[in-house]
Amino acid sequence: MLQTVTGPADPAAVGLADGHGHAWIMPPPGVAPDYRLELHDVAVIKAELSDFRSAGGGLLVDCQPGGCGRDARMLAQLATETGLFITATTGFHRQVYYPPDHWLWSATVEATAAYFVEELTQGTRESGGRVRAATIKVGYEGVIEGQTRVLMEAAADAARQTGAVILFHTERGRNVEALLSFFGERGVPPERLYICHVDKRPDFGLHRELAEAGALLGYDTFVRPKYDPEHGVWPLLRRMVAAGLAGSIAIGLDLALPEMWRHYGGGPGLLALPERIIPRLRQEGFDRPTIARLTGQNVARRLVWRMPEDQE
Ligand SMILES: [Zn+2]
Repeated sequence: MLQTVTGPADPAAVGLADGHGHAWIMPPPGVAPDYRLELHDVAVIKAELSDFRSAGGGLLVDCQPGGCGRDARMLAQLATETGLFITATTGFHRQVYYPPDHWLWSATVEATAAYFVEELTQGTRESGGRVRAATIKVGYEGVIEGQTRVLMEAAADAARQTGAVILFHTERGRNVEALLSFFGERGVPPERLYICHVDKRPDFGLHRELAEAGALLGYDTFVRPKYDPEHGVWPLLRRMVAAGLAGSIAIGLDLALPEMWRHYGGGPGLLALPERIIPRLRQEGFDRPTIARLTGQNVARRLVWRMPEDQE
């Protein structure tokens, strides 16, 4: 079963999913103004999530870890009130999203791994152990060194202990090549790695290699003109599907900024998934099962914990 903020869910039944989402971000004091993502108007967020739910939305994979804006209590409240399944994440994001003195950035591997495992198996800190995380986020800027390396060791340790997936923020796919060997050497197989934002580097050869190795790839630029989707993600997706790799891709929206939400007065909004992306996937000629996998099934099934020895 998939571990959501409101309890276990059958991954086969979640329907449409935002595979890399944000439902709530309340930056803590001390975060620099440029890195404050202010996504915490409960009425506005609830309205948008409800719209998504009414249009067939079933799951949002929330990607904000603790200490840099997550509030698992709010995620649980929003999930309860809208009927949407939401998963929470432990782990860590890029350091710029934390106050300068946050403990993670001087913690040991052991203390960090214990914290990640606690949030996955007992519950998130801010919820007083009431709401559990499902995934382990790694804010990967493309280099494995310093404290990031320490935290990545801890993520590997926690993934090994629990079977949870490691969900990567990447800087437009920068140096994702290094991830498979780093985690492989630490007993975490590619099947437990979910590499996001990698369509910002639409190199088919690279994507094929990662997918064939077993990693799940997160694509989220379909409705973001800034990333030139007509020359980037759409041709990439076509080639991946033609190569039989549709089982290795999860579509997300990554609406981390209020101006990307319709109820905040912006766009494309969560409804872009059912209203724009799904019709376009049909237009591309993909069959129903393929579309269902790309827009929900792949990510929902992958997020179910699985120990390394029983990979599919
Ligand atoms: Zn994100």
